[in-house]
Amino acid sequence: MQYYNLKDPRIRTGFRGAMERGIPADMGLFMPERIPLMDAGFFRRLPQMTLAEIGTEAGALYTGEDIPAEALRQICIEAFDFPVIIRQVDERKAALELFHGPTAAFKDFGARFMAGCFRYFSSRYDKRRVVLVATSGDTGGAIASSFLGVDGVDVIILYPSERVSRLQENQLTTLGRNITAIEVEGTFDDCQAMVKHALAGGSAGDRVRLTSANSINIARLIPQEFYYYYAIGQTGDGKVLSVPGGNFGNITAAAMAWRSGLGISHLIAATNINRAVPYYLETGRFTPASSIATIANAMDVGNPGNFDRFRRVFDDDHETIVRSVSGFWFDDDRIREQIREEYCRTGYVLDPHGAIASLGLDAYLDSHPGSTGIFVATAHPAKFNDIVEPLIGRKLEMPDSLKGFLGGRKQSVKMKAGYSNLAGYLNDRYMYG
Ligand SMILES: *Cc1c(COP(=O)(O)O)cnc(C)c1O
Repeated sequence: MQYYNLKDPRIRTGFRGAMERGIPADMGLFMPERIPLMDAGFFRRLPQMTLAEIGTEAGALYTGEDIPAEALRQICIEAFDFPVIIRQVDERKAALELFHGPTAAFKDFGARFMAGCFRYFSSRYDKRRVVLVATSGDTGGAIASSFLGVDGVDVIILYPSERVSRLQENQLTTLGRNITAIEVEGTFDDCQAMVKHALAGGSAGDRVRLTSANSINIARLIPQEFYYYYAIGQTGDGKVLSVPGGNFGNITAAAMAWRSGLGISHLIAATNINRAVPYYLETGRFTPASSIATIANAMDVGNPGNFDRFRRVFDDDHETIVRSVSGFWFDDDRIREQIREEYCRTGYVLDPHGAIASLGLDAYLDSHPGSTGIFVATAHPAKFNDIVEPLIGRKLEMPDSLKGFLGGRKQSVKMKAGYSNLAGYLNDRYMYG
């Protein structure tokens, strides 16, 4: 499988090249040259397959010769060593719970798969790497936890000061070892712009080998398809699938799985008031904006980085997209109301991000009676206990993997927004590297 740059299709590379570069020099996006079709035998066997088995088979079409089958199998077994749980919430909708991994958010899937690939390559090719990542909340924790102690890799995480929860911040700032957290006085978009600039070959890029671990990295995107296969394998074809969108990696993966033959009937792109994509679906115009802070902070993205890929999956054709995808957006009040109502009505506890997906699914199913669907629950509600507990009127048990992050000593590097500050830091740190 070859990957081409969406901005300049003449630039092509294999899986390893696309992963290690992360983002092409012109800030384009690597895209698989085609979306492979899974064969009928795969779909027949799907209901019996584990996530690791699905990953080994579906992933091989993307990693090609770069990772031998047995190595890919090991990467999948190690990366996906926690459960995916599908819970029926009411007669017409089920939750696809992707938050049973070590950082209690769905980003564990992509981050752990990518770290496994890095470990595989770094054991074969002796090159020191700096993995840069901007986070609006959950990405950084998943990357930090997945890459902790991986030989030959330094991880540098940029996060917006005072815009992530205490627990999220502790996940970034208390691990130490090969993980460094940079606290940026600015928004997630500022952090993302700094990372993109560094990767696009700013001055520091010449001296150290920088890679991005944002959801723009293809090695994070591909494994996110696997749980959609798994979910439909477990529950049957024909479902509407509602995905809460931030940078739009997760829903792009769903769209890719769909294009590979998975039996989804319709996709819902659900967002908070950062509504560039629902607006695009409505009007055909894509107008990225600055991000606005909401209670679903991992989705506070004004200019979704994967949007061009998402569009590409549907051949850049607005008509095709709107036939396949519906967009909905919700403000904080509506999200709170959904958390309260869903709990009263069904006993199911939503986190703010899953609540958005659940709202989007409800909105669609209300106008399509007889349809059933799955919404993606991307984070454990206890991660947002300050928001959720007052709404449902009871305490939530923190998952064991997170309890360790309630304390810990914070270590961060404070930085003003702007690429030159990051360049200065990288130059200082890696001057002789
Ligand atoms: C990152 C994140 C999202 C958004 O996912 P994208 O792939 O960026 O669209 C939604 N919910 C949670 C909890 C997240 O961490």
